[in-house]
Amino acid sequence: MDSSAVKFFNTLGRKLVPFEPLRQGAVGVYTCGPTVYNQAHIGNLRTFLFEDLLCRSLRFLGFAVTQIMNLTDVDDKTIRGAEEQGVALDVFTAPFITAFRADLQALNVVPAEVYPRATEHIAGMQAIIGRLLASGFAYESDGSVWFRIAADVEYGKLSGVKLDEARVGERVANDEYATEDVRDFVLWKGAKPGEPSWPSPWGPGRPGWHIECSAMSAAYLGETFDIHCGGVDNLFPHHENEIAQSESANGVPFVRYWLHSEHLIVDGQKMSKSLGNFYTLADLLARGVSPRALRYLLISVHYRQKLNFTFAGLDAAKSALTRLDDFVHRVRHMEGSSDRSGKLLVRVEALLAEFASALGDDLNISAALAALFEFVREVNSAIDRRELGADDREPVLAALRRVDEALGVIFMDWGEALGLDGSEGVGEAEILAAIAARKAARTARNFAESDRIRDELAARGVVLEDSAQGTRWKRR
Ligand code: AMP
Ligand code: ZN
Repeated sequence: MDSSAVKFFNTLGRKLVPFEPLRQGAVGVYTCGPTVYNQAHIGNLRTFLFEDLLCRSLRFLGFAVTQIMNLTDVDDKTIRGAEEQGVALDVFTAPFITAFRADLQALNVVPAEVYPRATEHIAGMQAIIGRLLASGFAYESDGSVWFRIAADVEYGKLSGVKLDEARVGERVANDEYATEDVRDFVLWKGAKPGEPSWPSPWGPGRPGWHIECSAMSAAYLGETFDIHCGGVDNLFPHHENEIAQSESANGVPFVRYWLHSEHLIVDGQKMSKSLGNFYTLADLLARGVSPRALRYLLISVHYRQKLNFTFAGLDAAKSALTRLDDFVHRVRHMEGSSDRSGKLLVRVEALLAEFASALGDDLNISAALAALFEFVREVNSAIDRRELGADDREPVLAALRRVDEALGVIFMDWGEALGLDGSEGVGEAEILAAIAARKAARTARNFAESDRIRDELAARGVVLEDSAQGTRWKRR
């Protein structure tokens, strides 16, 4: 598909618009990452999976993507947590960063190019604050620095918030500092006794939350970049404030396309720590849910629709995956003479074209999955009619692998999605054949043989893991 036909719903302007990156063929994406003061819940993970689907889809559509995801490792919550445990900030946040990376890996998220930490970018934040002070967009008060909202005539352009009605964000309200105007938000917070702090021209302190993202996005993607994402709760005040800071300091547009994902909800309410209605990935694993089913469920609803989390929804995801697994299995075992009509290749091309045009239409995942399942249905019928044979396996599997570059679920439990290209040592086809032979041995209760196959693979660096979904493999 022509990548110029890609459209996204831009929150800035609230319209579906053609997507034109700054540099042809290359896209810079900034995604607000987690505040690493606890384990992410699956609501947070929905947002991160939306961003993964977005970046994967852009790559599928032919763009080179650079994704940056920050880690908010200094803010009120991380500081409070470190204080409560009586440890240094980085000691407190380290296990949550590790857990977050493990969650993403378990969910087959393609890693961002960089996961910068706020604490590594204090100098960049101070530089922006310095420019804002110099140009009158900020003022100092009592060791803290504030953004002067009244100086920014464009304030509110993303969220549509009217300045007179602007409610002070939660993170601002927490702070007990003197401001000119209650709507002003903090850029630099003077240190309270005992808090971690960094030296600055305004005295020891730490950055406000919003300035973190203005600095880290510019450091890696430049002052103007293509796409900025987050959950809808980030839209105001966080993203509105990022725009205010960056555009006032730099004098150039900040972000061209803003994409916001809707919340995961439970019984009509946002899943959140404060409501206590949340599950972490670990909670679900303990209940026997597979990361693969969760990934499927969370990506299968359009990102701008609320997703109501239920266990019935997970069961439906599992059934959809079983259909795909059965199909892959069937295709891998097609025997006999092949399609001579050329219809299969036409059908494969049609699948890829429909899939691309669905994803290019503001990530229309329902249409993309519908195209995939229609393909599965039609190829299954052709197999029933004995129209396909051994030589047709590869074109069908290649189409599924291509589609799975965007979805990341079809081959998730086979190891292909772990970024392993099969170029070293034992090849993928051989591994799959060995897994099939081991399964046959186990079915025949020939456990000596099945153990021999597993040990032989292990000796060659391939580890097998049995799960309810079948056997997955990894290279050591
Ligand atoms: P936080 O760690 O609180 O900064 O949140 C990380 C990301 O998760 C942000 O992009 C939020 O918008 C997003 N988020 C928080 N709660 C939910 C939810 N219930 N559903 C979807 N995304 C959420
Ligand atoms: Zn952010």
